[in-house]
Amino acid sequence: MSNPKPHIGVLALQGDFEAHIKMLEDVGAHGIAIRLPRHLDTIDGIIIPGGESTTIGKLMVEYGLHDILLRKIQEGVPVWGTCAGLILLSKETDNALLGQPLLASMNIRVRRNAFGSQRESFETDLKVPVLGEAPFHAFFIRGPLVERVGAGVEVLATLDNGTIVAVREGTMLGTAFHPEVAGDPRFHDYFLRIVRSVTL
Ligand code: GLN
Repeated sequence: MSNPKPHIGVLALQGDFEAHIKMLEDVGAHGIAIRLPRHLDTIDGIIIPGGESTTIGKLMVEYGLHDILLRKIQEGVPVWGTCAGLILLSKETDNALLGQPLLASMNIRVRRNAFGSQRESFETDLKVPVLGEAPFHAFFIRGPLVERVGAGVEVLATLDNGTIVAVREGTMLGTAFHPEVAGDPRFHDYFLRIVRSVTL
């Protein structure tokens, strides 16, 4: 293998980036906090973490990162959005503010803050066939849901009622929950497999 320790950039402007960086180190990757365009020079994959999508989007533009991130994604650098990151990656959201900067790359429509007030935040065991038999314990923190998937999008996990909460489109991955706080490295491992498949 030509790239035994992939370099994964985690957008570190706001939100839950430190837990991702720690989890990446645990699964044998090098997690790099991305705050400046030059931090993206040598990365093999990108994680857009959870947080507040409107804030992350605005800061992405202010820090000069939006266009270069979009270019990397369009060039096929694998990207994974968790929660707010998934919102930023989706082509359509139910209530994107006028002019809200998005990366608009995945052929999905999401609904922000979709789990009404009672279930805004909850935990549940998900079946995720690509991760194997054992359920994945998922933490939803004011997360979105995926309302519609378009051509080329694979559904990786749903809630028991059929709500789509994890998707993949080529080298793009999206989860409506927070795998970085689960203490279970399988999703990070799965993303690394995608990264390795394009950097071999
Ligand atoms: N509710 C947030 C948003 O709309 C996402 C929450 C999260 O990332 N945990 O951006």
